[in-house]
Amino acid sequence: MVAEISANIRQILENIAARAARAGRDASEIKLLAVTKKVDDNRILEALAAGITILGENYVQEALRKQALLEKWEKPVEWHMIGHLQTRKAALAVRFFDMIHSLDRMELAVELNKRAQATGRTIKVLIEVNSGGEATKSGVSPEQAPDLAKSAASLKNLSLQGLMTIPPPFDEPERARPYFARLRELKEEIAALRIPGVQMKELSMGMTADYLIAIDEGATIVRIGRGIFGERK
Ligand SMILES: *Cc1c(COP(=O)(O)O)cnc(C)c1O
Repeated sequence: MVAEISANIRQILENIAARAARAGRDASEIKLLAVTKKVDDNRILEALAAGITILGENYVQEALRKQALLEKWEKPVEWHMIGHLQTRKAALAVRFFDMIHSLDRMELAVELNKRAQATGRTIKVLIEVNSGGEATKSGVSPEQAPDLAKSAASLKNLSLQGLMTIPPPFDEPERARPYFARLRELKEEIAALRIPGVQMKELSMGMTADYLIAIDEGATIVRIGRGIFGERK
């Protein structure tokens, strides 16, 4: 099992490198984030031992528990919040995460900023875009994203670094391509607005089933769970 996790990671890193080369991209600009929801601590430690440096969590409480257990791990680890974030969890999120991928409303931006200011830090955020317009998913519509970027830019303790999306689920990964392409275009549109303080450099997109397509379309962070740890319980 243990050897399996490191073999999976090695394979994914090779796939990323090969796909980046094919797409004429520099593989060093693509980060692999390991999604650890419902994954046992010893398996997370194996992934860290195999070279993973960014962990993605969907739930604040689960992340807090894991961070306490993983305190023994001495190398630097970045924790990213990739799930929907409730406003009342903003204070905890600011303390325990390095980046929030799920900024989807101004109310949350204001609260994150306030909490970040209180602790004297800046929190990195990505705007989550509901690229498929699905009723069940959070995220702003592509049309709303530039306005949220403009409003959030005035908040001094937030550092807006890019966009995130989860396309609708498809059996055929190729069908996710237009949603990834749309996110890349949107990143360029927002970058062209030259909003002071906004850096449109990250595109968090692509999961186990479709990360290679996402790399073709410009992903800089791929979020992979099952591909590293196997099917979730
Ligand atoms: C679960 C999850 C992933 C990883 O999905 P896999 O199919 O296991 O790779 C990526 N991003 C988000 C937001 C998730 O919730």
